[in-house]
Amino acid sequence: MKKNVPGVALAILFFLTACTKNASDPTGIATAAPDRTVQLPPPCIQHEDAERTRIASMARVTQQPTTPVVLLLDFNGQHVQNSAWDTESTISCPAVPNSLLTAAMRDYIFQNVMEDFSGFFVKITRSEQEYAAAPANRRMRCVITYNMMERFGNVGGTAMISSMSWADNTPCFVFCDVLQYNQKYIAGAVSHELGHTLGLFHQSRYSEACSQEEEYHTGFGYGTLGWAPIMGISYYQSIITWHKGISSNGCDQPQDDMTLLLAAAGTRADDYAPTLNNSTTPLPSTGTKSGILEHAGDNDAFWKKEANNKRIRVISNGNSDIAVEVYNMQGQLLNTIDDINGPNIDAVISGKRYIRVRVTGNQPYVPIGNGFGGYTINVSTP
Ligand SMILES: [Zn+2]
Repeated sequence: MKKNVPGVALAILFFLTACTKNASDPTGIATAAPDRTVQLPPPCIQHEDAERTRIASMARVTQQPTTPVVLLLDFNGQHVQNSAWDTESTISCPAVPNSLLTAAMRDYIFQNVMEDFSGFFVKITRSEQEYAAAPANRRMRCVITYNMMERFGNVGGTAMISSMSWADNTPCFVFCDVLQYNQKYIAGAVSHELGHTLGLFHQSRYSEACSQEEEYHTGFGYGTLGWAPIMGISYYQSIITWHKGISSNGCDQPQDDMTLLLAAAGTRADDYAPTLNNSTTPLPSTGTKSGILEHAGDNDAFWKKEANNKRIRVISNGNSDIAVEVYNMQGQLLNTIDDINGPNIDAVISGKRYIRVRVTGNQPYVPIGNGFGGYTINVSTP
C-alpha cells in the first residue's frame, strides 16, 4: 500500500525577485540587491510523517556514536524500491551524463557538501560500499538525478524529515534539470535535502505580526559578503551556513540547525586544541596547514616558532569569516587580525608567536554565532 505522507508543505513558486530586501535587513547596511535574471522554483518540498518525526526527535543521540553518519552522493542513477516514497512501484532515477554534470562539477558538489557537514561526525562519500557498510539508521542516499514532475512537482529536490532515523533506505532527491545543471545550486540543494533527512525543517522569516514572509529564508545582502541559511534558499549567496532561526513550523518555533545536526550525527573531534604551550601544533616554515573550525566557538591554536617575519594567509573554505588572534610566548593577546571586507586573513607576523584561528562576527550579513568549517593556513616569506 502506498504510504500516506501527511503534512506535505505546498510548493510555493518562489521567484528570485523576492530576494530584494532592504527594509527588513537588520544590519541597515543593505541597499537594493542587484537585478536577478534567473528564476528557479523552490529548493524542495519537505515531507513530514509527524509521528515518525516525533519518534526520531526523541531518539536523538545523547552519547557520541562510534560510527559516523555516511551520506552518499549518488550520481550513478538508482532504482528506488520499497522506500517511504513508494512501497509499490520502482522509482527509476537515471544518472545525469558527464556532458551535463562534468567530473569537475561533481567534485565541486562533493567538496561543498563535505564542507557544509564538516562540523559533524559525518562522512560524505560517493562509494556504494561505504554506504552499504554503515548502520541503516546512520546512512542516507541522495539521488542526484532528473525531476519526475508528475511525482514530485516543480522543485529542485525533495526529502522526508528525519528519514535517516527510519533505517529503511528511504533516499532524498536532487533534480539537476530544475537546478539548471548549476554546480552551486546543486551543492546547496544536496546539503539542504540531507539536512531534512537529519531532522531539519526550513528556516523561514516572519513579520513582527507573526505572518510568514518567506518559507525559504533568502538571507541578507548580496555579493561576496551575502549570506543565506542552507535550510532556506542558499543558491544565490556566497556565505551559507546552518542557522539558528525560526522554522517553517511557525513563528514561535525556533530551530538551531547546528544543535539538531550534532544531536542527529554526533560531534567531529576537534583537530587542533586552543592551548598555547609547548604542545601547540607548529606552523611550517613555509607551506600549508589545513584545519576545521567544527563550530562557531572553536579556537585552533598554532605556534610560529621562528622569529623572522612570515606572511600568513588564512583562507576560509567558504562557510566562515575568519579572524586570527596573535599571542606572545607568555600567552598574552597582542592583537587580533580581522579583515572587515572579506572572510580571509593576509598579514605579516614577526617574532615567535602563537596564533589562534577562529570565527569572527564582523561580516555585515552573517548572523552572529553562524560560521564554521575548513580553512587553510599558508605560510610564506614576505
Ligand atoms: Zn526543503
